[in-house]
Amino acid sequence: MFKKYYLLSPGPTPLPEDVLSVAAEPIIHHRTPEFSAIFMEVSEGLKYVFGTKQDVFILTSSGTGAMEAAVVNTLSPGDKVITINGGKFGERWGKICRSYGLNVREIVLEWGEDFTKDQLEVELKADPEIKAVFATLSETSSGAVYDIQGYGEVVAETEAILVVDGISGLGATPCPMDEWKIDVLITGSQKSLMIPPGLAYIAFSPKAWKFVEKAKLPRFYFDAIAAKKNLEKQTTPWTPAISLIIQQKKALDRIKAIGLDGLLEHHRILAEATRAGVKALGLELLAKRPGNILTAVKVPAGLDGVKLVRTMQSKYYAYIAGGQDPYKGKIFRIAHLGYMCGFEIITSLAALEMTLADLGYPVEMGKGVAAAENVLRENWK
Ligand SMILES: *Cc1c(COP(=O)(O)O)cnc(C)c1O
Repeated sequence: MFKKYYLLSPGPTPLPEDVLSVAAEPIIHHRTPEFSAIFMEVSEGLKYVFGTKQDVFILTSSGTGAMEAAVVNTLSPGDKVITINGGKFGERWGKICRSYGLNVREIVLEWGEDFTKDQLEVELKADPEIKAVFATLSETSSGAVYDIQGYGEVVAETEAILVVDGISGLGATPCPMDEWKIDVLITGSQKSLMIPPGLAYIAFSPKAWKFVEKAKLPRFYFDAIAAKKNLEKQTTPWTPAISLIIQQKKALDRIKAIGLDGLLEHHRILAEATRAGVKALGLELLAKRPGNILTAVKVPAGLDGVKLVRTMQSKYYAYIAGGQDPYKGKIFRIAHLGYMCGFEIITSLAALEMTLADLGYPVEMGKGVAAAENVLRENWK
């Protein structure tokens, strides 16, 4: 058979055809009215996705660059912060903050466990000197989503700011920045925003801007004040990733065409179909609050999870993701993120069933696929 590649990972995600083809066009210069018009259109489109009236800045970096930008632009050495570590990406907040000499109170959760707004409130009351809370909308390593709306209510009552990593979640699960009182929201380009890796986006609330003005951590490349001054002139401080921004315009056109609500509904349907499929196979999810971004599934006892993922990838070319760090071999992750459709879910589940059978696991072929088909048929629009 031809080796047809199915990208079923939670970043990078598959790209729409027009997003791919526009990257092949000749490059244009960035200090021109022609590029500025595209740049401003993308900046406006991102405000729509973020649910904010604030400026959204376009950084040339992977998502982690925007995480670093959030830290260096708002804090000063020795500041006390809370980081919520429910997996690999929440853990990264702690690593970045410690690298910059912040005083970190790290809340370490079991992967997939929830952390409620009431628990956060207790932490904040215990230490009124906390300057910032670092949270994750969708913890991509565990498939869990957190109550960002609740965190926003609690943090808004304090002097602290709420900083949210929305890198895999934004566009796939609700997260209206202004309405939910988020102070710094970031995301990356290679997840629900449907372009290649390489751009990251960040916005600051008026409360966060007061922090930006006073922050003393060293910053240069990611200086938000420089970004703001340049955005007023419809440009960026440094050479932007021109082709990626043009690709983002194309992808935003698609998002505007189905609408943000349509995009969220799309992810809900794909997620429900996936969950129905894996549950019909008798498998269990890792997350207590599973998100609509990806589904992390526990590897059944007696099976080698590393081999399962390797077989799906090398035999069937179905590139789902394995578990990371302590969960390597213990979970696998099926994404339903970005430019995927119902038939990608069917492909994932069919490849999963075939792989389980290959590994000698008792599986009734077609059972997971049928459960997903039923969800898709009822919801298809
Ligand atoms: C993908 C991802 C990141 C990391 O982004 P990079 O682009 O690899 O730097 C951070 N946080 C979350 C939740 C992610 O899903």
